[in-house]
Amino acid sequence: MSVRVRFAPSPTGALHMGGVRTALYNYLLAKKEKGTFILRIEDTDQNRFVPGAEEYIKKSLEWCGIVPDEGPEQGGEYGPYCQSERKASYAQYAQQLIDSGWAYYAFDTPEEIEAARENAKKEGKHAWQYDLHTRGTMRNSETLAKDEVASLIAAGAKYTVRFKVPAGEVVVFVDEIRGEVRSNSDLLDDKVLFKSDGMPTYHLANVADDHAMKITHVIRGEEWLPSAPMHVLLYRALGWEDSRPKFAHLPLIMKPEGNGKLSKRDGDKLGFPVFPLEWKDPKSEEISSGYREQGYYPEAFVNMLLLLGWNSGTEQEIFTRDEMIAAFSLDRVVKSGARFSPDKSKWFNENYLRSRSPEQLAADVRSLAPEFNGLDDTKLAQMCALMAERSTLITDLLTHTYFYERPASYDEKLARKKWKEETTGLMTELTNELDQLDDFSEEKIDQVMQDFVAKKEIGFGQIGPIFRLLITGKGGGPSMSALSEFLGKEETVARLRIGLEKLG
Ligand code: GLU
Repeated sequence: MSVRVRFAPSPTGALHMGGVRTALYNYLLAKKEKGTFILRIEDTDQNRFVPGAEEYIKKSLEWCGIVPDEGPEQGGEYGPYCQSERKASYAQYAQQLIDSGWAYYAFDTPEEIEAARENAKKEGKHAWQYDLHTRGTMRNSETLAKDEVASLIAAGAKYTVRFKVPAGEVVVFVDEIRGEVRSNSDLLDDKVLFKSDGMPTYHLANVADDHAMKITHVIRGEEWLPSAPMHVLLYRALGWEDSRPKFAHLPLIMKPEGNGKLSKRDGDKLGFPVFPLEWKDPKSEEISSGYREQGYYPEAFVNMLLLLGWNSGTEQEIFTRDEMIAAFSLDRVVKSGARFSPDKSKWFNENYLRSRSPEQLAADVRSLAPEFNGLDDTKLAQMCALMAERSTLITDLLTHTYFYERPASYDEKLARKKWKEETTGLMTELTNELDQLDDFSEEKIDQVMQDFVAKKEIGFGQIGPIFRLLITGKGGGPSMSALSEFLGKEETVARLRIGLEKLG
């Protein structure tokens, strides 16, 4: 049977990088097995709907190159791929479960449920839940007479349909990552399957659609592990046990330090994005930066996510897409939480950035800053060639104004430290020599400087840092002869003379 997997996000906000990782692992398994990767939008919960979220999810996947084979945009023979458009298909399953005794009507209002919870608390009992121990005390078709139920429904009373968890059973299933998982059914709650607004809940819609879409593997986050035993029972109740998909619950992504799940707050605190793309919360209007806007390559971001919970068993860390597909398997996904490292993300990006040609880098810069300070393509590529070894993020290539602007000020501390009595004289002489050069190439400039220090019997340290200060205004940066060639003779000499006037 061919592998069919799905990524099934709910459009309740921006897609967290953990969600992207779930999509990635699904995608990789599908590609490896020459199967099908499906995007299904789980939008049955009207209360949690956030405008723009579905678009954001699609754009994020597109940026990462995690392209669905079937989905709302791509179509496919198992559509529609948005649950709100499949609304009409779920009621029959709720009815089937009621008819077969696997579900019941519950008429309790939210207030009544709250009161039951409060009561239990007062009596010092365990946290209350609607389950096989408490359902007998509530207002439902298990406790009310048949005709009373019928007349309530006929009168339009609000109800939900709840799953009737069987008593005294050990529910067993094999998780592809965790191995055998056993749970005592007495501890499960009677989940709501269908709501009074005519919409299914996640549990019913998810299971019904996985069945309808012939899903073979459910790969999702660990937060869904507690729901899995109930889903196993639901497959049985619906008579679909033989075609039940395999389950694989991915480990949580943990904070860089300390314990607990990585949250957006950690990102804000430590200064790294948790979303692939920038996201503007439609309610609060708060803007959260994304990996794309911070200057990451989607390839680096995806490569980082690949290794956040999976390893190949080798030392290899950089993977092309084809290598990822060939190497991926669920049995190498780790069980315990995967600690996120912002430094490692940067390391990946640096690797990708430095493997790009100057022309590719120039195009990357243009994608973030199309007009980049008037530099033409050749100049921009030259600048990128000089800066690649000193850059980690694409945005780092954009930050050095001395490629297109004279220094507005000079690092005073550096000037005080390096400027000696003889500096002005030496630098004036050197500037004049450079001004004589016909071929203003990196090699020739280097030669002039070397001859100059030899002739004057001084160390390079007496002119190098000052040269840099006059040209760029600061210390550090690319080779001075290379930068001078980039700027050209006229500009280099002008900067040296202006600087000498100001500092000398
Ligand atoms: N809609 C669920 C979510 O947002 C899907 C969970 C699953 O994959 O079963 O995470």
